[in-house]
Amino acid sequence: MNPFDLALRDFQLRRAAERYGNPITFTCGGRCFGCNAPADISMLKKCSGCGAVLYCSQKCQRLDWNGKMMESIAHKSWCSKFKAHLHRLDTVQSVIKSFPWGRVEADGTFYNDCARAQFYLLGGAGFGFWSQSGMGLFEEAEDDESMKTHRMKWPAFDEHWRAIKQEKAQITFMNGQDLLKATHLNDKDGWKLPQNLLVRRDFTATARFKAPHRVRSLICNWDDWHAWRNVPKSSPASLLMHYPLTIYWILCHTLKLASVGADAHNERVHLTVHYIGAEVELNFIPILSELALLLPHHDLDIVLFGPCVFYLGQEGATAAHRTSLISRSAHDGNIPIFTYDAPDSCGSGCVRVFLHTASKYWDKKDLPTYGKHPDAILACNAGLFTYDASHNVVHASLEDRIPFAVTDYQEYMLESNRDTVVLRSLLRNTHLNVVSRPVELNPFHQPGQRYLRRANFAPNLVNGFIFVVYQPED
Ligand SMILES: [Zn+2]
Ligand SMILES: [Zn+2]
Repeated sequence: MNPFDLALRDFQLRRAAERYGNPITFTCGGRCFGCNAPADISMLKKCSGCGAVLYCSQKCQRLDWNGKMMESIAHKSWCSKFKAHLHRLDTVQSVIKSFPWGRVEADGTFYNDCARAQFYLLGGAGFGFWSQSGMGLFEEAEDDESMKTHRMKWPAFDEHWRAIKQEKAQITFMNGQDLLKATHLNDKDGWKLPQNLLVRRDFTATARFKAPHRVRSLICNWDDWHAWRNVPKSSPASLLMHYPLTIYWILCHTLKLASVGADAHNERVHLTVHYIGAEVELNFIPILSELALLLPHHDLDIVLFGPCVFYLGQEGATAAHRTSLISRSAHDGNIPIFTYDAPDSCGSGCVRVFLHTASKYWDKKDLPTYGKHPDAILACNAGLFTYDASHNVVHASLEDRIPFAVTDYQEYMLESNRDTVVLRSLLRNTHLNVVSRPVELNPFHQPGQRYLRRANFAPNLVNGFIFVVYQPED
């Protein structure tokens, strides 16, 4: 069964049950936080210290406490931090529950595919901005030793798991595949949603739709954004819009480089952002137009970097794609792949998106390619610190005093990065008086907790947390 068919079936089951007043929840079971073995979540025992992580046995808990399990960090040094992280749970659950399609499963997760299935937003080629394949419940169930044991124990699970893996492999999909076409997807073909639920960017005379009013004060959360945009919360748009809104929030609130107060009488604000590790973003570049609507009197250039951008550029440079959108960018990085001018009534902001197709990773030597020094470096949900290349970026950011912010799924990942990678780099640059800022919850995270691969109830969200690696002092 195709994972989306499964999600569609689950949605239908849920809808029928709710019609009779019986809410149902789905879960694929958890995994012991210590040994990683799959188990029914109700059979696992919580750490009494933090209440955030679950174990299959006392033995596992004891070993993990002393740092003798898979995770190299001893839980005893993280227990109190996890407890603090768990305090965010009410906030993030109230966000997902505020959407009519939002549900919290028994294990605290949000079944994203099931929500998408009800709008028939199935991934793969031809699904517009949603062509990224779903994060199925089994997405992360890799074929390791513990999974093999699990599959041997439960033949039904094994059969199901095999079928999903097979179907998933058949979903044709490449990040940015629509950039091999000659034109960008319009609002209707990109969003694949009913007219009243999509997020418009086309306010030309022929489109006959009214642009949102000019932003006068900072938009601080999903409720604000939906109200300003006049998009009902029954729309699943936030499941993609968290990308542009996270950029907006970091530029305005976190780094304070952009401001809604930029006045018509003042000069325009020019900003260049180097956005590293772009992958799924390549499927919905036109929604970055939102930043032009959100930022009156700003000219924002966003340059996308990453292995996906590089490979897409190689494909786009071939003769077969001579007339494609990407072809020109592949040959000349100074030609934007996408440009959007907000209407005058919105404050005439402008966004241009560039693809850095020349190399796989962000490198300082690539800076002159775009003629301008970046005003900020962002890495959203890019797992940046898992790459050695991250050291280059951290060093360049510090040396050249370029503000640099990243987002990640979990607070503890960023805190451990802060304590290791970043601090080590900072020590080599002691002439800078760098203030280590606390990790922030991003109000524009993708609503809903992700599937918990290893039982840890602390919030785990796409674009969940923001960490400022470096920001010059005022
Ligand atoms: Zn265990
Ligand atoms: Zn604990």
